[in-house]
Amino acid sequence: MDPMLTVAQAEALILQRVPRPNADQDREFVDLMAACDRILAQPLTTTVDFPHWDNSAMDGYAVRFADVQVCHPDRPVALQVIAEIPAGAAPQCTVNPGQAARILTGSMMPTGADTVVMQENTRRDGELVFILTPPSGSGAFVRRQGAFYQAGTPLLPAGIRLQAPELAVLAAAQLTPVPVYRRPNVAILSTGSELIPPDRPLQPGQIVDSNQYALTALVAQAGANPLPLGIIPDDPTILEQTIHQAVATADLVISSGGVSVGDYDYVEAILAKLGAEIAVRSVAMRPGKPLTVATLKSPTRSTPVLYFGLPGNPVSALVTFWRFVQPALLKRAGLARSWGPVFTQALTTQELRGDSKRETYLWGQIHATEQGYRFHPVEGGHNSGNLINLAQTNALAVLATGQQVHPANSPVQVMVVGQPLTGGNYL
Ligand code: AMP
Ligand code: MG
Repeated sequence: MDPMLTVAQAEALILQRVPRPNADQDREFVDLMAACDRILAQPLTTTVDFPHWDNSAMDGYAVRFADVQVCHPDRPVALQVIAEIPAGAAPQCTVNPGQAARILTGSMMPTGADTVVMQENTRRDGELVFILTPPSGSGAFVRRQGAFYQAGTPLLPAGIRLQAPELAVLAAAQLTPVPVYRRPNVAILSTGSELIPPDRPLQPGQIVDSNQYALTALVAQAGANPLPLGIIPDDPTILEQTIHQAVATADLVISSGGVSVGDYDYVEAILAKLGAEIAVRSVAMRPGKPLTVATLKSPTRSTPVLYFGLPGNPVSALVTFWRFVQPALLKRAGLARSWGPVFTQALTTQELRGDSKRETYLWGQIHATEQGYRFHPVEGGHNSGNLINLAQTNALAVLATGQQVHPANSPVQVMVVGQPLTGGNYL
């Protein structure tokens, strides 16, 4: 295996190793109110038609088309109003020739009537209604039973994320509780003897474990269940025990640090010792060159566990998460497609500098303007050790390997990682 893969090769190797959730084992039922953002675990159908019955699309009068097809404001047709059908009640009447029923939007059509005349085209006088203008045809302003959906046909497919429109459909179809995939459990560990938690006084040489917080947030945002395991020192025995335990409890494990070629980088050797199949060791990407991806047999489940050993450098850890882990996580969570990342074109406001040997990811902000997207790289340059100017990043410009200079005010490929900014008179 060529140790240094291109980004595209690494992505393909990773995604083909991501198991999909198991339709039975990984399914749970949640109340509709708690189902937002969850992923549907099975295709759904329902036993009712939409609309449930023929109903009126207008406030007006339910009539027989044959009675009213020839009329004119000067020669209106008079019909006897035999009933009023409010929304929410079943009509008790039958509309016979020469008759009409007062009807409101959404009300069920009475038997005998086939057409609705909108109120604006009528004049009411006591028990009589005068039809002034003929309807466009038989069935005008009637929503037919089953016109939008027929009982028993597919309603929603498996593998979609449930958002407001889908929740409305499920509610209308009275489908609650909803079968969704359980959220994947993701163990997160920070390796490095120099690391301390944020609430500990900093001694010279120590580094605060920021990755634990960033990765936990990213995992939760991807719809998975983060299991933060804290800081693990560069001690091969402790690290092996922790990884072993993480593999036993989680569906996916993310560690940061310890994957380069330093004297204290033990992750890959431990994975090999635990019987992992290592798919990725190093990717031609800047930032993020050291990246270990492996699969391990789960001691507790039939689906294998995916292991991501991200670089410790906080910028590299986030960029590699966005590029590789997030799509894998969305596939593992059961999303049928569109795992991302999302790429688009934007006009860069500044010149960008790439790398002769690696695909380069340059962080900044994407703004949606009336002229299209603009990409504004961060102030202060792209130093992968600079975590501070990563704040407020919502996109990364992507320069192909060998593309050393990308001119200002020209379109560039951008990987979107947050909501594009809008408003104001930016640029
Ligand atoms: P490593 O990949 O272990 O060689 O780490 C690369 C750099 O990232 C070193 O400067 C580490 O101190 C730093 N680093 C490693 N892990 C973390 C972490 N969890 N949070 C912040 N910085 C880290
Ligand atoms: Mg380290």
